[in-house]
Amino acid sequence: MSRAPSRCGIIGFPLSHTRSPQLHRAFAEQCDIDLDYVVLAAPEREFEPAAREFFARGGLGLNVTLPYKARALEFVNSASERAVRAGAANVLSRQLDGSVQADNVDGAGFIADLARRSFDARAARVYIIGAGGAAAGVAAALLEAGASSVVVRNRNPSRAKALIERLADPRITESRSEGDTYDLVINATSASLFNECPDFPSSVIGSTTLAYDLAYSTQPTPFMRCAAGLGAQTCDGWGMLVEQAAASFALWHGVSPDTSPLLSRFPTRG
Ligand code: NDP
Repeated sequence: MSRAPSRCGIIGFPLSHTRSPQLHRAFAEQCDIDLDYVVLAAPEREFEPAAREFFARGGLGLNVTLPYKARALEFVNSASERAVRAGAANVLSRQLDGSVQADNVDGAGFIADLARRSFDARAARVYIIGAGGAAAGVAAALLEAGASSVVVRNRNPSRAKALIERLADPRITESRSEGDTYDLVINATSASLFNECPDFPSSVIGSTTLAYDLAYSTQPTPFMRCAAGLGAQTCDGWGMLVEQAAASFALWHGVSPDTSPLLSRFPTRG
């Protein structure tokens, strides 16, 4: 008798833009794993029931995306330290005893992509625009990787304050009057999804800056165009997406796929 395929998927709303199914199916083919990867577009009140039903029916793991990364932490039986620290989860995994555990591999995916770009996060001076779930995961991972300072600026300053308090590290501070230029400037806002550039002081970007937009698209984002105009090297979040997908895949299937074929498949710049 043949075994049923491993059932995994992604939950969020809306999900028309997601490329996670393509990534996971490509990894499964590479690793010879029989995978059924589903897309659960769950509006506001359907997140918990849809996730509960998925795991009750034997689902192995779910990626979680906008807008449920914080809610996912409330849904689970247990959470990894990095997910608690970020206050957000992007992976849910069914454990052997049937319980569901939350993790956050956004930060790990980001650091892996930086390493691929030969950017050394140790001792880096970092400026993050945005204070949502992605900013939290990336900030926590940068501190763990040894960044020397992380400055956070957000449209709603109270959210930046809350993130800094939760991470509780003397190296992370709020944006004040800026004059400094940073090694790494990250657009962790969702402004690119609306074809907008977030507001930030132009002095933070110079010719030695890597300007990294966590959003990905076939064209340079408004933030990337602005940063390039200020002399920075730029890139989008495709590499991070591929690396975090690979980290989720490894959690669920116990094998780390080779990301290199997928990194070149979607046009990235920088
Ligand atoms: P959240 O909804 O948790 O946070 C959104 C953030 O964007 C908030 O800080 C919000 O500010 C800010 N924001 C939204 N619109 C604007 C605007 N017009 N100008 C300035 N700030 C704005 O989203 P996530 O943190 O989950 O996602 C953020 C981005 O990261 C998205 O583009 C997403 O696609 C990308 N991402 C990429 C990943 C990858 O693997 N490449 C993984 C995860 C996310 P405020 O608090 O003031 O509302």
